[in-house]
Amino acid sequence: MAHPILDLFPPRAAVDPDGTLTIAGGRVDDLAREFGTPAIVVDEASLRARAREYRDALATGWPNARVVFASKAFPATAVQRVMVEEGLGLDVAGGGELLSGLRAGVDPALVVMHGNAKTTEELRIAVEARIGLVVVDNEDDVDRLEQLVPSGTVQGVLVRVVPEVASSTHPHVQTGQVGSKFGLTAAAARLLIARIEASPLLDMRGVHAHVGSQIMDPAELAAAVAPLAALGTFPVYDLGGGLGARYTYEDRPASVDEYVGTLLAAAREHLPAEAELIIEPGRSMVNGSAFTLYTVTTVKRDARNFVAVDGGMGDNLEAAMYDQRYEAALAGRMHDEDAEDVVVVGRHCESGDVLVDPLRLPAARVGDLLAVPATGAYTHTMANNYNGYRRPPVVFVRDGEARAVIRRETWEDLFGRDV
Ligand SMILES: *Cc1c(COP(=O)(O)O)cnc(C)c1O
Repeated sequence: MAHPILDLFPPRAAVDPDGTLTIAGGRVDDLAREFGTPAIVVDEASLRARAREYRDALATGWPNARVVFASKAFPATAVQRVMVEEGLGLDVAGGGELLSGLRAGVDPALVVMHGNAKTTEELRIAVEARIGLVVVDNEDDVDRLEQLVPSGTVQGVLVRVVPEVASSTHPHVQTGQVGSKFGLTAAAARLLIARIEASPLLDMRGVHAHVGSQIMDPAELAAAVAPLAALGTFPVYDLGGGLGARYTYEDRPASVDEYVGTLLAAAREHLPAEAELIIEPGRSMVNGSAFTLYTVTTVKRDARNFVAVDGGMGDNLEAAMYDQRYEAALAGRMHDEDAEDVVVVGRHCESGDVLVDPLRLPAARVGDLLAVPATGAYTHTMANNYNGYRRPPVVFVRDGEARAVIRRETWEDLFGRDV
């Protein structure tokens, strides 16, 4: 019987007769030899397929609509380039993601910039690049834009609104509730909208809301549509991102079709038929197309069976920050029977540096490869140098070919900013 964990990998994952995991026709032991571990491995065809799935679902249901990829979920130039090639726009949070998006070849008109604390410098980069939409989150954004936009030109803006809807996700990734630091409540939003409408330098295009992240039930996301509609009639309504991704055997997020269908049902009920709709998927766009490959560095059978790997919090903060549950398997021994309860821990100096707890695994040995599926979202994003860790490479695989799109940091890189 096929190992159940294959369901959590991209569709082209399989197992060779000797028990080694393969991805898009390539063996993971070959990947480990060529690129080292840890490595974030992306199935490029699966990433492209997901982008098209989103694009087609939205275009079919609401022709005047666009998908913009929330770059922060996987802010690699190569990932942004895939999205651009598949016809998507980019949502960027801040100047860095905008600059990489421009390197990825995005049409600036298809860029949406977010941020609750944008600096003058970041807004200057956005205005000079002539991006399509700046999402203003506060009055200070408007003050700054009015200083920066050259007279005779106009900058398109959306106003970010707190939709005042609750969601069932982790409190750290809820953003639509009263008291959120993001956006304005309806009364404050109305005042700012009136100010923007009176400004000769700003084009009041519409309103935006983002309920939160890793939300499995699309009804919670669609609940933001009515509060946006209540603010008035605009050319654009941006409904944010937030659809949950599948990490574990138990997770059952809505499909893209179910999600888009639920959003569009609410849009048909509340929004003008000629309005342009924008959605901003991040996590659900990228998570399932990638996995992280580690090497087991130590196995300690003591109070518990500790299987320690050569990464951890340095390449995956989702587990430590949001209690995200993952699954894992010994990628070179996929035919072996699960033999013991273990806890998979990282290499960092924190007791909270736990990747998977608990987990059933075959008896692990030093040197085994361990693969953690569903790590495309927010792992590379938050990778860091804790304990002098060298951030891992991002490797794209396609038709049996593998190439690094971001190389591993070197020891020298760690001191590259010393002055
Ligand atoms: C984070 C974020 C997204 C993407 O959220 P996901 O949960 O990754 O889909 C979209 N829009 C805004 C404004 C965000 O902050």
